[in-house]
Amino acid sequence: MGRGAARRGKGRGPAGRSFRAPLPSGFDARIIAAMSDRTVVSRFAPSPTGYLHVGGARTALFSWLLARRHRGRFLLRIEDTDLARSTERACVQLLEDLRWLGLHWDNDPVVRQSARLEVYDHLIDDLKSRGLAYDAYETAGELDALRKVAEREKRAFIYRRREPGEEEKRRFAVENRPAVVRLAMPVREFRFHDAVLDKDIVMPAEEAQDFVIRKTDGMPTYHFAVVVDDHAMGISHVLRGQEHLKNTFYHLAIQEALGYAAPTYGHLPIILNIDGSKMGKRDRDKKIRVHAHGWMKNSKKTPEELAAAAGLPVERIGGWLKSETTQLDLAEQQSVMEAIGLRESDLPEILVHDFRKNGYLPEALLNFLALLGWNPGGDRERMSMDELVEAFDIGGIGKSNARFDRAKLLNFNTEAAASADPTRLVAVFREYLSVNPESPLNGADDAMLGKLLAMKKGFRTLREVDEPSRFLFLADAAIQYTPEAVEKVLKKQNGRAVLVDLNPILRDLPEWTAETIERAVEAYCQSKSLGLGKVAQPLRVAVSGSAVSPPIFQSLELLGRPATLARLERCLAETQASA
Ligand code: GLU
Repeated sequence: MGRGAARRGKGRGPAGRSFRAPLPSGFDARIIAAMSDRTVVSRFAPSPTGYLHVGGARTALFSWLLARRHRGRFLLRIEDTDLARSTERACVQLLEDLRWLGLHWDNDPVVRQSARLEVYDHLIDDLKSRGLAYDAYETAGELDALRKVAEREKRAFIYRRREPGEEEKRRFAVENRPAVVRLAMPVREFRFHDAVLDKDIVMPAEEAQDFVIRKTDGMPTYHFAVVVDDHAMGISHVLRGQEHLKNTFYHLAIQEALGYAAPTYGHLPIILNIDGSKMGKRDRDKKIRVHAHGWMKNSKKTPEELAAAAGLPVERIGGWLKSETTQLDLAEQQSVMEAIGLRESDLPEILVHDFRKNGYLPEALLNFLALLGWNPGGDRERMSMDELVEAFDIGGIGKSNARFDRAKLLNFNTEAAASADPTRLVAVFREYLSVNPESPLNGADDAMLGKLLAMKKGFRTLREVDEPSRFLFLADAAIQYTPEAVEKVLKKQNGRAVLVDLNPILRDLPEWTAETIERAVEAYCQSKSLGLGKVAQPLRVAVSGSAVSPPIFQSLELLGRPATLARLERCLAETQASA
């Protein structure tokens, strides 16, 4: 039994009696130590500024697992006090992504900070009346100047209280200068024990500074609202990204001023790309640049020609092609991608929505994210949600950066799809289609989706089922023949002649099933001493437009005889005209 369990064993029960409750095996000792009689209440507190990033999803998952592991509560709070950056749309998207992942929260309605302004105001006014916070009048320009002085003197900029003189106060009043409110942070050491890093994190006294708790627009800062709400919601454990590590000292200072107990804090390792670079939106821009260079090389085009094809200024494109630090905005990226034939789905996924749209299963993504910085012990990897809950332990979270291995995620997804119950897989596929509204498969019924999934067994993502099957759901006249396929398969390899022969054979088949089609095609192959590929490939091109499709005979059965024959005839007519 661990150290914490022993401590709890000696503890006092709610009624004041001592008790020795048996603990479930593997119960996290460090949690118990921090828990005393409280239950675990964790939270996820995203700022609604865009879709959920995988890093945010991992934070949500770890907080969720912690709560579920200890039969506690997982709460959701929307931190929307940054009026310039928060949007309602982002808020809806965040909730959607969490729902898709299956990370359900236990509070309804969700806490929204923008609805709690009165609470923050009241507390800030109280701190001011007790001399623990005060109005500060420096403008952004003045603060900048102070920062520059510190920079020149090669020291960190520390803001300490400076009481304006009477004269200054009068001038500010005349100018109607807006004020922020700053917390008077005690000038002394602050420290806390980080449950993930498993060590004390210390801020020396000289780094203490009076930081802003209410902005000039009247909104509380993140620091203030986060502390007030964690307390109001009874949060016992805060797991969040390492970028917040040093913010925690400010949070401790606010807690002290307000007389709150501090929750247990744990800061999660940073997520890096496999090459060690920081994972972020930049990666998408990088990939577009690499492809743009490839496109120019293969098609012997200049940056000027790329700019013209994308409809963008030459200087902009030229600068972007040369410099890794220049990034195109979303609209510019779109224009370049169109010009070079790169699709959205070819870009590396960064947001949960990207993974969802490219056909990942939520359980595979969650399993993968769980292992980003957390080790369940042994060499366990593929785990169900129940197994993750059972094994989760803050002590197993690593201290060093985690690497995002996309190949491993693809393997997880392949395995998750292969082992998923067929009915559920259809439901997940339907969900995938709902975020890919351009796919004609949206018109297919569940039975048909089930057949397509079965036909592509072994697929890595749902996109790999969707895209090659789209030809089955297009109007015959909408099939576009890929010039390379026509050239190679129909002309060079003489596939056109095969189609001429097959046309009446298929037309006269007594029954239209994958087996009867296959048998007829095999008989034809034998009679002509042709390999199956020499016949299947032209058929593929004729019905789908390209040389890749799901298994051809099953595809033809699904497509039906009339459409198959119509496409064969159209293909023959078009290739004759261009022959
Ligand atoms: N709204 C903050 C963020 O999205 C929350 C940080 C925290 O968990 O304290 O980064």
